[in-house]
Amino acid sequence: MNSPPPLLLPPPISKSLLNIILQINLSGIIILSLTDTSNLININRMEKTLVILKPCTIQRGLIGEIISRFERKGLKLAGMKMAWLTDEILSEHYAHLKEKPFFQRIKDAMSVCPVIVCCWEGVDAIHVVRQLAGATNGRNAQPGTIRGDYSMSVQENIVHASDSPETAITELKRFFSDDELFDYKMNNLLAIYANDEF
Ligand code: UDP
Ligand code: MG
Repeated sequence: MNSPPPLLLPPPISKSLLNIILQINLSGIIILSLTDTSNLININRMEKTLVILKPCTIQRGLIGEIISRFERKGLKLAGMKMAWLTDEILSEHYAHLKEKPFFQRIKDAMSVCPVIVCCWEGVDAIHVVRQLAGATNGRNAQPGTIRGDYSMSVQENIVHASDSPETAITELKRFFSDDELFDYKMNNLLAIYANDEF
C-alpha cells in the first residue's frame, strides 16, 4: 500500500531571525556579517478583528449566510456569542459618532434584538474583513461585498467591522473576556496560505 510522501517544507523565511549577509567591499574583501532582521520582518501577521452581525441581519435570517462569507474566505472563528447590547455599551462603541444627529437612532437600531458578536482571525484580518464588508452605505457598496449584496441602507448595513488594529484591540476587549476567545489550531493553514505568509 502506498503511503503519502512525507511533507517536507522549508522553514518559513519570516521565522528566521538571523540573516547572514555577504558583502564585497570596494577593495574586493568579502565581509561576512550577522544581521538581526527580526525588526524588519513581520514575524506574525495574524490579526484578530471584531465583527457584529447587526439586528437587521438577525431579523432577516441572514446569520448563516454572513458567517459563511467569512468562513469561505479562509478566516478562522476565534469567538462567537449572542448578546443584547445596552445603551451604555453602544454609547462607548459609537462614541466617534456622538455629535452626529443619528447617534441615538443607530443605538436604538442596534438594540432592537440581540446581535451576534464574533472574532475572526487571519493574516491581515482587519483589512480583509473591512474589504469583505464593503462601503458603509449599502447602496454604494460594491456588489460582491457583504453590504453590496445584502444591504439597501446606510444604517441597516448587516455588519460592524473594526477599522484599524488599535480599534480591533479595544473593540474585542469591549465585547469579549479573555476566556471567550479561543486559541486553537486549524489543520488547513497550508491550503489557505503559503508557508511564509503566516
Ligand atoms: N451610520 C449611519 N449614518 C451615517 C453614517 C453611519 O446610520 O451617515 C451608521 C451605520 O450603521 C454605520 C455606523 O453608523 O455602520 C458606524 O459608522 P462608521 O462611520 O463607523 O461606519 P462603518 O465603520 O460601519 O462602515
Ligand atoms: Mg466604524
